[in-house]
Amino acid sequence: MDREQFRKAGYAAVDRICDYFENLESYDVVPKVQPGDIAKLIGDEVPEKGEPWADIAKDFDRIILPGITHWQHPNFYAYFPANTTFECILADMYVGAVSNPGFNWLCSPACTELESKVTDWVAKLLGLDQSWCNEGMVGAGVIQGSASESVITVCIAARERFLRLHPSTPFSDMVILGTTQTHSLGAKAALILGFEFVAIETRAEDEWALRGEALEKALRELEEKGKKPFILIATLGSTSTGAIDNIAEITAVTAAHPSLFLHIDAAWGGVFLSLPECRDEAFLDAINARAVKGAEEGAICAGGEVHSFCTNLHKSGLVTFDASCLWIRDRTLLTTALDITPPFLRTAQASAGLVTDYRNMSLSLGRRFRSLKIWWTLRSYGVQGFQKHLRRLVELARVFERELVREVEGVELFTNRRFSLVVFRVLPLPPSSPSLEESNALTRALTTLASHDHSLMLTPTTVGGTECVRVAVGSGFTEERHVRGLVGRLQALIGEAREEVGKERVNGTV
Ligand SMILES: *Cc1c(COP(=O)(O)O)cnc(C)c1O
Repeated sequence: MDREQFRKAGYAAVDRICDYFENLESYDVVPKVQPGDIAKLIGDEVPEKGEPWADIAKDFDRIILPGITHWQHPNFYAYFPANTTFECILADMYVGAVSNPGFNWLCSPACTELESKVTDWVAKLLGLDQSWCNEGMVGAGVIQGSASESVITVCIAARERFLRLHPSTPFSDMVILGTTQTHSLGAKAALILGFEFVAIETRAEDEWALRGEALEKALRELEEKGKKPFILIATLGSTSTGAIDNIAEITAVTAAHPSLFLHIDAAWGGVFLSLPECRDEAFLDAINARAVKGAEEGAICAGGEVHSFCTNLHKSGLVTFDASCLWIRDRTLLTTALDITPPFLRTAQASAGLVTDYRNMSLSLGRRFRSLKIWWTLRSYGVQGFQKHLRRLVELARVFERELVREVEGVELFTNRRFSLVVFRVLPLPPSSPSLEESNALTRALTTLASHDHSLMLTPTTVGGTECVRVAVGSGFTEERHVRGLVGRLQALIGEAREEVGKERVNGTV
């Protein structure tokens, strides 16, 4: 393709993308394909001769779209959302044009300096204070590909920090600490790095959040076993129910455990900190608080404070996948753990300490130019537009929650709505007694029936043995009529679920 062909194809692509959004609602949310259906439409080899662009472009409609799960669809309520915006789509085009791996400042000064600026912008948008910002070169904000990657990266920093404080600790004694509600990224980081992952139990009466007392008890038990927890992954907005660990109580406990690094995984929930009305429930003050004790020994020893924080703008934060923002209070924790500078990567600017080389804060050397899409989105929406988007999602979830409880007999909210996430389960109707087994069977039947309905998408979860359904409102295209429609659809599906489970009862299969 030459430049003039690109010009034409580019205009056509924008038209096609606009048509896609115009017709979005007419698609099934979940495609009706079987495993292998898409693969068999794709050739087995690289074509011997190049093909005309018109044929290639056509295959997006013929092969790819029929196999797309439409995350932007107004009836997508599964997992967590994956917002996109036109600003980001355009930014990705420009990034493609200047394609470069931006690992050192010199590799593209604009990539590095924009990344430092936009992560400062986002920190301020969320209410994170100056200590998290790149300004001053003590704290750092860095854009990673995912929250999982962010956790592995800080686990390495935490490991090095712990080993500096307690040299020659055997790896086999060192553990990564989380809770039963921590995202699987905790266990995965432990698996990759060769550590044990220890999950602290959380309780229904705490809304599945980690409390100070439980942490204290777990630390005591680990100490008795000779185990050395070196990082605690606390969660702000758990995947199952949106649980928020009690960061104020946690930092009160970790004050007496200065070698324990504290990371906050706010992959989904973090962006809601941009709403002042959500900051108390998300413990913003505790996230920003600095340690009193230990601070005089240098930041490396400070217990009782949050050391790193991560949120994904690519969930509810209007930025196209991928954009996981990671902040760390003391950037040297990352750079001492991750800096390997062979002669060919040396630059005069870095040697003089004038610039940030983001390769020293990331697992990989080369990195995508992700800051442009964040910058453009935030400039185009402004703080007010960003907040308005999130408030709209919260309001839609509130409407859904209210209508569900009002309109549908025998459903129970499993936890209080968190931001834009509603979690519920189906209960047996009287005179049946509300046994866990029975409600699990009904809820499971609902999830199975819903999975056969391609016009919407939901995900189930199990918390403490209770099966639930999650409704995560998050598409920028969802309107009130959609969530009201969802209530109606669920009402019908729950009716079918009751019939099915009732029949199985009669046949003695449950
Ligand atoms: C989505 C999510 C993750 C995983 O995020 P990735 O960026 O896909 O790694 C981790 N933790 C929480 C709480 C999440 O919501």
